[in-house]
Amino acid sequence: LRGVVALDGPSGTGKSTVARRLAGKLGAGYLDTGAMYRAITVAVLRAGVDPSDDDAVAAIAERTDLHIGDSPAAAQVRIGDDDVTVEIRGPEVTLNVSAVSAVPRVRELMVARQRSIITDVVRRLGGIVVEGRDIGTVVAPDAPLKVYLTASADARAGRRTRQDAASGRNATIAETRKDVERRDRLDSTRTTSPLRPAHDAVELDTTALDINGVLNRLVGLLDE
Ligand code: C5P
Repeated sequence: LRGVVALDGPSGTGKSTVARRLAGKLGAGYLDTGAMYRAITVAVLRAGVDPSDDDAVAAIAERTDLHIGDSPAAAQVRIGDDDVTVEIRGPEVTLNVSAVSAVPRVRELMVARQRSIITDVVRRLGGIVVEGRDIGTVVAPDAPLKVYLTASADARAGRRTRQDAASGRNATIAETRKDVERRDRLDSTRTTSPLRPAHDAVELDTTALDINGVLNRLVGLLDE
């Protein structure tokens, strides 16, 4: 792979699994930008700051010493020396991450970091698969391949519920569906880089596809 594959879309579309598998298959790097917003959210919650207080949240983001791995095999996330890879998936973080990621200064800081990681990894490995909500529109608008994954609300809630169950959290599909829809609403209505497909993104509906099905479609798009 030369350059960037931008994978965007709402949660529960299979984005993370597919992005990681694709990067592994291509020998490319991998960047989970959602994990970065989640790590800032951990720092905000630890500081006891109100996630809707833009200035306070921005100040936390400025001073958080965030480290994120760029390998599809082990994408570790740290704040300083503290491994927060598991904590960033917790329900309290999921509940608050959309508010934190809507703060313009937070996005400015994260986008700058993401671009520098991308430049570094492309120099080292030739290519990187980057997943998020604004990769094709903001972070890497020149990416040669931009894909926007979608899936029905039911399929997305089902996948999220199974993922949660695998990591020991038990929510019903109805609860998860509410949470997924709430987050999508917040992410697509915020003023700074709302969730939407880039004008030149390929839209791929994953409702009826399994992981291998999605992976094959992406590999096909790369070969075009
Ligand atoms: O991908 P994940 O579900 O971990 O993302 C968590 C949250 O981070 C999203 O709901 C969204 O609010 C935010 N996010 C974002 N921009 C990105 C990636 C994630 O705003 N590029």
